Parts: sequence; C-alpha cells; structure tokens
Amino acid sequence: MGRMVDQSKTQTQKDYYYILGVRPDATSREIQQAYEQLYEKFGPHVNISGMDPDIMIKNFREICDAYEVLMDPKARQEYDRNSEKMRQSLGDLRNLWQKNTEKPQQDAGMAAGGIKAAALAVELECEISLKEAMKGCIREIRLSDPMPCEQCNAMKTVNRMQCQNCRGLGYFNVERVTDVDLPAGTYDGMEIRRPGCGRYDIRAKRQGDLILKVKLLPHPILGILGRDITVTVPVTLYEAMLGAEIEVPTATGRVVMKIQPLTHPGRVYRLKGLGLAGADQLVTIDVVFPQKITPEEAAMFKRLKELSQEPNPRESLMRSMPPPPPGGQQQAAEE
Ligand SMILES: [Zn+2]
Repeated sequence: MGRMVDQSKTQTQKDYYYILGVRPDATSREIQQAYEQLYEKFGPHVNISGMDPDIMIKNFREICDAYEVLMDPKARQEYDRNSEKMRQSLGDLRNLWQKNTEKPQQDAGMAAGGIKAAALAVELECEISLKEAMKGCIREIRLSDPMPCEQCNAMKTVNRMQCQNCRGLGYFNVERVTDVDLPAGTYDGMEIRRPGCGRYDIRAKRQGDLILKVKLLPHPILGILGRDITVTVPVTLYEAMLGAEIEVPTATGRVVMKIQPLTHPGRVYRLKGLGLAGADQLVTIDVVFPQKITPEEAAMFKRLKELSQEPNPRESLMRSMPPPPPGGQQQAAEE
C-alpha cells in the first residue's frame, strides 16, 4: 500500500525557535548565544563518530537557516506571522480532532498540576521542606507521555477496523520519571523550568517544558519573612542580664550564638547567611521571668535593688501629672 504524500499540503514551516532551543520571545543576544553553542557542537568542523556527515551537514544547515531568519528583524516578523497562521489552522484541526475522540486519560501528574495545551508545558506544584530549600534536593517527577501506537500509527484503525493493539485509542500512555534538581536557596513561589522535560506533545511532536512551582511547607518552629528565616528564642532573666552563649535552632540544625549582657526582650540578632538564598536568620530574644522565688533569692534581689543605681523608670511618665493631693496618695486597688 503505497502512500502518496502531497508535499504542498503537508509542508509546514520548521520551528526555528525549537531548532535553536530558544523561547519565542528570545532576544537577538540569546539567539546569538544559542547559535554559537550549537555551532560549537554541530558546526562543519565537528566530527561525531557514527554520524553520517551528510546528515550532519543537513542538520547544521537547518540551524543556520533558523539563525539567519531569527536574527533578521524583518524576516523574523514575517516568520512569526506565518507561524501564527499555521498555529491557528492546527488549532482548528485539533478542535476537530478533539470533538471526534474521547478525552485522553488523565494521569496523576496532569491531575495534580494541570496542563497548558497552548504552551506545551506541564506545571506542577512541588512542596519542599525548609531544610530541603536550604540544602537543595532532588524530586522525582512522574509524567506519562502519550506515545503513538506503532501498529496503527496513531490512526486508531488498521484496514478500517479498530486497531487491536491500542484498542482504538491511537496511543499509549508511557510513564516516565524525571529527576529534577532543586538548587540550594530555592524559595517559596519560585518557578523552576526544565525545557524539554515536560509531557510529550503529540501535536508538536516533542517534549514540552516542565515547570515546577515551589511551595515551601511551614516549619513547626521557624518562620519565613521573605528570604529571611525567623525564630523567637527564650532566655532566662540571668542570661539576658549577664549575656550568654545560647543554642539556636536553624533550618539545617542548630548553632551556638552569643547574646550581649543587658539583652532586652524583643532584641533581634542577625545570623548572617543562615536564611534562604544567602539571606539571614533573625533571632528575636524573649526574656522569661522566674516562675517562683525562694527567700534566699528574694534577699539577694533586695540587695541588688539597694545596689542598683537605675533611675526611677516612671519619672518621665509622672512629670506631666499634677502633684498628689495634700492628704497623700490614693491607694490603687489591686487587680
Ligand atoms: Zn493502534
């Protein structure tokens, strides 16, 4: 069964952006850089063993074509216009195709993240702990690619009968696991894009991008303020008065920190570089008063009071008040 293909009808414009591996909104500098990298790898001076030199040259010719068109503003505009037209006609075809077929099975990845058909990219939310954000981590992402049935060539029928191999679906879902490396310093709301790691797109005949949206899970003790990590640490009255070395929890463990003598409640110490992406950890000091006092301690506090040269802290508060009546102070009732 010979298949005649009418070239004039199936001839479609090559995706120059895809060939150069750049986004459609790439600047001419990005295009230049992409071209230079490709030239290094596939230029006429390169020999890859086992590769047919004719195919190498043909492939490199495509790279050059893409580069020449995209670097010329006028040619690029024209190219973009044609692509738009093509996308529209493909879109119409696609709608038709969708109306005539049942929806493809949703896989777990799609259900969790949703898929943007137009952008070809899969967006998934990725929850990570604070520790993972600090140290970096690897996430196993499971996606399933629709692969065309080889028996029917995705046509769903063989000799006008339903294809037995794919039971008329035209393709199979093939699960694929991708490891995505989340670098140290990843923060909440960050988007990590892995070009070409998304789902296989039947229409475009290539992998789309995988986009991971990072969601930082709340930590039981530590808070997050932008990229700073925050924590409130209690110290005793004595530590606050005399200064101390105290242990402080951090996202990756604990550190010993010095507090100055006479550290007031609410004072904030900054631990450089212990936040996310090189930011800091902010340690707020809370002073905890003793819960009880022994007679011996009371006697010593009394002695301390006598030794103290602190001015009356209420002096400025009372200065603006009228003097007490001649009969003496009124005794305020206790709570
Ligand atoms: Zn089939």
